[in-house]
Amino acid sequence: MQSESKFLPDFSHIYIESKAQGFNLTKKCIRNFPKAKIIEISDYKSIFNRPRQDFQTQKQSMKLILAIKKPPYIYKGTDILQDGGYKNFYYNTPMLNCLYNCSYCFLQGMYSSANIVVFVNEIDMQDAVKNEIVKRVHKEQPLMLSISYNTDLMAFENILPITKNWIQFAKLNLDLNLEIRTKSGLYHSIKDIESSDQIVLAWTLSPDKVVRKYELNTPPLSKRISAIKLALKDGWKVRLCFDPILYYNNWENDYLELFNKVKSSLNLNQVLDITVGTFRMSNDYFNRIRKSKPNSGLFYQNYKNENGIVSIDSKKKNSIFKLVSDNFSNYLPQNKIHYSI
Ligand code: SF4
Repeated sequence: MQSESKFLPDFSHIYIESKAQGFNLTKKCIRNFPKAKIIEISDYKSIFNRPRQDFQTQKQSMKLILAIKKPPYIYKGTDILQDGGYKNFYYNTPMLNCLYNCSYCFLQGMYSSANIVVFVNEIDMQDAVKNEIVKRVHKEQPLMLSISYNTDLMAFENILPITKNWIQFAKLNLDLNLEIRTKSGLYHSIKDIESSDQIVLAWTLSPDKVVRKYELNTPPLSKRISAIKLALKDGWKVRLCFDPILYYNNWENDYLELFNKVKSSLNLNQVLDITVGTFRMSNDYFNRIRKSKPNSGLFYQNYKNENGIVSIDSKKKNSIFKLVSDNFSNYLPQNKIHYSI
């Protein structure tokens, strides 16, 4: 847990693909880190996919890589992602990896490197979204795009205005909705933009005990709640995400405390909806992380493995869902509380 104002990484090295030179995001980055050593490379994968890297060691001193995203620029949502009821649900990856370091994060199993990759060719990614909007199957609904899937984009917003750029893009494309999931307290970085019904700002909330133990470098619960209050006041649609709710000894007490804090701090009539999830991960990522973290309590519990997804058993899952339902069904209609399968 960390105060966000203090948490601005000092990237000692910035690797820049030759073709990424000259883009606005590249120029901004170079300006923001005048002391960084700039190293020109031909392909980001030569750094990012290097063999024998250690994710957690690299986390201690992340490097920044600026690259050109190649197709595919947009992906269909998976079962692990929550779609919040949207039929045309997609995600994209303007950035790989995250400033934060949650112990349960799948990124540790997905990538061998903890370095951060920013794709600077925003227009290519946005053109692909425009094409997909035209091609979407359920024309009666907008295309819902999660832009913060492989990262926490808002946490990076005091470095590069990527969230802002995507919001501005969405405002020009009325059949596009965005979900921006975050644990950040940096709402002020987008505060000067007028709110829009097309955008869902989705804050993940966890008990402070979980934040301290499992959500390294993220802001405390109070900062996230303060950010939500401001966003609601400014008219943004806000989704509350209790995801993952972790199951451990006395989990109920911690989560009850969290739910009471949320109910006493926020006007839930103003909240768009709530999404609820439990620990779940693709088997491959899970096994890779487990191997690299022999002392992790989280990765050495009993899980079930079904269709390539590792998750807690149904009994535990149902007790988690029940606690949420018992606590929030008097505050929000049932169809506004989405449970991950
Ligand atoms: S904030 Fe999200 S993306 Fe970032 S480390 Fe935590 S779980 Fe992973």
